[in-house]
Amino acid sequence: MSNWCDVCEIAQPDDICESCGADLTPSEPGPVPWRWRLFIVATIIYLIWRIYQLISWLLH
Ligand SMILES: [Zn+2]
Repeated sequence: MSNWCDVCEIAQPDDICESCGADLTPSEPGPVPWRWRLFIVATIIYLIWRIYQLISWLLH
């Protein structure tokens, strides 16, 4: 389970951010923080878009 640091905008494996030392204990209820889901979805969409661009560039 990873935590998300809003200050550094990176995922941290511990409850304390290694970069800025902020407390990353999740405050939202629920098993998966919505920010983490949003980050995963955005990453997948970005990767699909990059692959699509690469394929269309190769076929050009
Ligand atoms: Zn941080």
